Amino acid sequence: MNLPTTSILTFEQALATVLEHARDVPTPTIEPSPLLQSAGRVLAEPILADRDQPPFDRATRDGFAVHAHEWSSGETLRVIGQVRAGEIWRRTELPTEAAIEIMTGAPVPPGADAVAMVEHAVLERDWVRAAEGRRLIPGENIVDRGSEARAGDTVVPAATLITAAEIAMSATCGLSHLQVYRRPAVAIIATGDELVELNERPAPHQIRNSNGYALSALVHFAGGDPHLLPIARDTHEDLRARIGGSAVLGADLVLLSGGVSAGKYDFVEEVLAEHKAEFLFTGVRMQPGKPVVFGRMPAARLGDSSVQFRYFFGLPGNPISTEVTFHCFVAPMIRALSGAGICVPRFVQATITEGVPAKPGLTRLLPGCLAPDLHSPTVRLVPWHGSGDLAANTRANCYAVLPDSHEPHAGEVITVLLR
Ligand code: AMP
Ligand code: MG
Repeated sequence: MNLPTTSILTFEQALATVLEHARDVPTPTIEPSPLLQSAGRVLAEPILADRDQPPFDRATRDGFAVHAHEWSSGETLRVIGQVRAGEIWRRTELPTEAAIEIMTGAPVPPGADAVAMVEHAVLERDWVRAAEGRRLIPGENIVDRGSEARAGDTVVPAATLITAAEIAMSATCGLSHLQVYRRPAVAIIATGDELVELNERPAPHQIRNSNGYALSALVHFAGGDPHLLPIARDTHEDLRARIGGSAVLGADLVLLSGGVSAGKYDFVEEVLAEHKAEFLFTGVRMQPGKPVVFGRMPAARLGDSSVQFRYFFGLPGNPISTEVTFHCFVAPMIRALSGAGICVPRFVQATITEGVPAKPGLTRLLPGCLAPDLHSPTVRLVPWHGSGDLAANTRANCYAVLPDSHEPHAGEVITVLLR
């Protein structure tokens, strides 16, 4: 047997190892993407403002454009006209002792230096004044032209993950297409003699390949392009054929599920070693997910003599172990391969509702339910039958991270991994 030297890390060390390698992956190539298909992708070129933002001095309230000092001293002002959003005041500058009715989003007429809120005004026919005690300072309720951004300014830097905020900014700048990084191709191989595909009827002792599908969805959500390969059987021949196959050779990242534990038919690491794999860790002191493997294989690319690597993860086969290890280690690597730089897993803090027995030396990530309380989020554990319990996983919306050092008591603030 040709097994790699074992290297079992703590959870924190394993995370740091993945991030250290994620930092050095090459920048992906660039392609155009229609704006509406760009959410979830990574911007390859900065977005520049095509004009000042806002493009005019913008009223932020419905009310009256005035001279602030006249309003504050309680003068009664003549209302000489109105300006709505989408209109512009084309008459003379605002004269003294006058006001112009104005709507939110309209350009402030020249000469006016503040907008009084309609709620703070006393209006009698064509005359308006401040309600008792209401004052204005110059600039109040006006956002000056160019104060948010100047034409030519970078409003979104390259390498930003595109969310609704970046889509809104692109639309504001008139961009119907964005330059984005190519999604990394991620080959997914589920291994196991007990697995059958979805179109097959499982015998009583067989199970369906759920990991292949879960991983495809997870890869997609993380910004990768999943390539789900046929199931590999627990034999050297089958694993060799799959790991040496063209789909893997064309991939930026390889995910294997199952076959990385200490079982008699767990051959994944041996076959990876045959492909000159360098193992960066072969296990992590965590539960679930302990047998997770991370490494890289030499990957020569056409017309490029520099040494390149193709990273791989061997994820434990139990479905919750697969998902947890994906969120912790694989997702940051996919983000890096998609040009987004370093993205740590989505950890938040919440109060745990019950005490939990510890497993000294193991960081535990247990299926939990984060309650949507605005001010003090709480997390409760979902009862489960271990890391194969997909039904419990569907009742969870996060993983409660229990430290390896002590037993959290009810009411303690702990870390939670969002998914
Ligand atoms: P392994 O990591 O290969 O020892 O598998 C651990 C457990 O996960 C076993 O109960 C397997 O049947 C199950 N398992 C492995 N691969 C998959 C898969 N692709 N889909 C669902 N369950 C799996
Ligand atoms: Mg197996």
